[in-house]
Amino acid sequence: MLRVAEIAYTKGWHQLTTDTWAYLSPPGTWGFSNCGLVVSGDTALLVDTQFDLPMTRQMQDAIAARMPGVRVTTVVTTHANGDHCWGNQLFPQAEIIASSASAHGMAHEVQPAQLEALSGPASGDSALGHYMRRHFGHFDFTGITVMPPGRTFSNRLQLSVEDTAVELIEVGPAHTDGDVIVHVPGAGVVYTGDILFVGDHPIMWTGPVENWIMACDTIIATGARYIVPGHGPVTHLDGVREFRAYLQMVADHAAHAHAAGVPYWQAASQLALPTPYVDWGHPERLVITMAAAYQNLGDASGDLMDVLAHAAELEQSLASRVRGSKLRG
Ligand SMILES: [Zn+2]
Repeated sequence: MLRVAEIAYTKGWHQLTTDTWAYLSPPGTWGFSNCGLVVSGDTALLVDTQFDLPMTRQMQDAIAARMPGVRVTTVVTTHANGDHCWGNQLFPQAEIIASSASAHGMAHEVQPAQLEALSGPASGDSALGHYMRRHFGHFDFTGITVMPPGRTFSNRLQLSVEDTAVELIEVGPAHTDGDVIVHVPGAGVVYTGDILFVGDHPIMWTGPVENWIMACDTIIATGARYIVPGHGPVTHLDGVREFRAYLQMVADHAAHAHAAGVPYWQAASQLALPTPYVDWGHPERLVITMAAAYQNLGDASGDLMDVLAHAAELEQSLASRVRGSKLRG
């Protein structure tokens, strides 16, 4: 895992440069996402909120504790997944900005009440039910109203936080339909949203993977010093290069497996992962990524619940393999 040594991977706000901060949420797995803050004078632009209201309140309280008097006047939503925007309602004074494609996703993707039902006690005795309860059951989805952006854009948008320039660059569709990265050129910082995961396998909900690779190139071209991923510790450009190589490997494997008629979920389990990727968490997410890659190669889109069920089954079989090897060892 390539991390910037001087930025500890501990929960809370970490100062990167004079005017930029990262809010880190270890362990970075499902739903534990990072936020960013660009502060100039007493005004701040926040990059993403948290998955639920208690987590967002904690992050908000930590702003007040570390940066007393600072007001968040702008919230940038990097993409439509709930773990990056379901706390937006706690910033009623701020202007919420997202890409047009993300605005659509926020209105049409899985909503908090649906996710609560899928991960609650009644979610069933299937591999998928267990998976959803284990990874999502500890969040509190009550009281959330998904707040759409008040301002949308496509392609690029230049902003300023008092005298600090901030550039929003739409790089999706890649992880989702409307991914945006936030570049603070004067500070040498990029907040990537879920265009970058550090330490775990990413999830490609939409792709195409070629766009995601180009998004990595866009980040690399900034020459930034600090890269704040959507999940995981702060990294640097070598971390982005390592991730880009992973995406290329996945794209190549998907093309071969698809041409050979291998079902997407088998393609995911058959990929022999080299170092360092073999150590990344959540290898079952490759099932979701392969399903999207196959769709981009011309297959009909699979039902989301079927795709997730295949991922849950792969996690279960990998866990039993580990248990078996421990017993033998
Ligand atoms: Zn995320």
